[in-house]
Amino acid sequence: MILVLLGPPGAGKGTQAKGLEDRHAMVQLSTGDMLRAAVAAGTDLGLKAGAIMERGELVPDDLVIGLIAERIDADGASENFILDGFPRTIGQAEALDRLLEERKRTVDRVIVIAVDDDALVARIIGRFTCECGEGYHDVFKKPKVAGVCDRCGGTKFTRRPDDTEEVVRARLKAYYAQTVPLIGYYEQQGKVASVDGMAGIETVEKEIDEALKGV
Ligand code: ADP
Ligand code: ADP
Ligand code: ZN
Repeated sequence: MILVLLGPPGAGKGTQAKGLEDRHAMVQLSTGDMLRAAVAAGTDLGLKAGAIMERGELVPDDLVIGLIAERIDADGASENFILDGFPRTIGQAEALDRLLEERKRTVDRVIVIAVDDDALVARIIGRFTCECGEGYHDVFKKPKVAGVCDRCGGTKFTRRPDDTEEVVRARLKAYYAQTVPLIGYYEQQGKVASVDGMAGIETVEKEIDEALKGV
């Protein structure tokens, strides 16, 4: 299965992708994580992408399409993928369809996670992440023991430089202008299921599992 998680910054895509990995045999592919790794490693791609990400704008299509193609080929043709944060433009969605067709695969389901703007800003401002990749929130998802990761026991957490109110506003603008049209694109293909992302994390997990039945 190939599942696309679509939703604004802070909707819970990363949180739900990690949950899906735990519950099902699926692999998360996050272009945001790949780009941040490239920035940290100081590669050519990282140098190009870093400044754009700091402003909250979208990185050019060809760069992210290349990343996704590489990972799909590396991880194996039969793998179940969760695409988290990709595609984000019509150009990316069309390129993905072509890329999958060449590999005799297709997007099976697109889950749209809907959340109000005010809630998104609160989620982004309170977000922090463990070294192991587990995501947390100051209010909505605190570690069981303060300062210690539930998943790996680690104590090193980071906050993203683009998780400020100002940059989030720019990211939301990019989402509405460039990514929302994808909902219509996938509706035409009959692949969209919407979930109420305002609900608690576990309720959203149940809704997503429900939307995946029969796929
Ligand atoms: P995205 O990947 O869509 O940007 P995240 O999964 O990183 O979003 O979630 C953003 C923040 O909101 C994180 O701090 C996360 O712990 C928290 N969060 C995720 N889902 C929910 C939810 N359903 N209710 C409250 N907070 C949530
Ligand atoms: P979030 O879901 O919280 O908005 P991501 O981690 O998915 O954040 O993305 C962080 C940043 O990385 C985006 O603001 C954008 O600059 C860049 N990025 C990630 N995925 C894409 C993509 N598919 N196309 C273009 N830019 C992307
Ligand atoms: Zn951890």
